[in-house]
Amino acid sequence: MDKKLTLALSKGRIFEETMPLLQAAGLIVAEDPEKSRKLILPTNDPDVQVIIVRASDVPTYVQYGAADFGVAGKDVLLEHGGEGLYQPIDLDIAKCRMSVAVHADFDYDYAVRQGARLRVATKYLQVARQHFAAKGVHVDLIKLYGSMELGPLVGLSDAIVDLVSTGSTLRANNLVEVEHIMDISSRLVVNRAALKLKREKLQPILEAFSKASKKTAA
Ligand code: ATP
Ligand code: MG
Repeated sequence: MDKKLTLALSKGRIFEETMPLLQAAGLIVAEDPEKSRKLILPTNDPDVQVIIVRASDVPTYVQYGAADFGVAGKDVLLEHGGEGLYQPIDLDIAKCRMSVAVHADFDYDYAVRQGARLRVATKYLQVARQHFAAKGVHVDLIKLYGSMELGPLVGLSDAIVDLVSTGSTLRANNLVEVEHIMDISSRLVVNRAALKLKREKLQPILEAFSKASKKTAA
């Protein structure tokens, strides 16, 4: 196994919110992934590099050991299943919630009381399936890859399961949040073999991340 450490991050909020944690571990990423086309970014430590992947691909790179560790949202980890991943720290970054939302004119509580079969559009099939099964609500799930908010507006679905932070996207599309399924934040994930074989190099970084994320959360 290569002694170099590879960290998988996605562009945008996860990259930005992980930077201060890396800094706390003495690591600085030289380039801005928003400006560079490079997918492998060096750091000030020649033994540590960052790879830029799609948010939902982070667990896969770490699972197969192509990255030794990564940062992924709880939403992404629940859909992936977490196989082969050690999840030591909730970094408490990229915080939002997973919710059910419907068109403002749709009476969700009434539909549920009537035992209606609901059409639900979502990127989060696992979470949605579990949520409605636990409530005893029958649903037809429709898999989407983005812009779930459109579903109820064009008659694709009665409801959506999506991530919400301020709620402004829902409001802008005349949707209302009717159920809060769970709070979401991003977690550190570590490849199980790397944890053993690269412990010496990994451990101090994991400790610095843990300390720094507790400090900002406090
Ligand atoms: P892609 O853009 O590749 O389709 P994505 O939309 O899931 O993927 P991001 O928008 O970068 O990628 O989101 C990354 C993670 O940040 C999500 O998995 C989730 O955990 C969290 N997240 C998503 N939306 C928000 C939000 N509005 N506020 C805070 N955190 C969020
Ligand atoms: Mg997004």
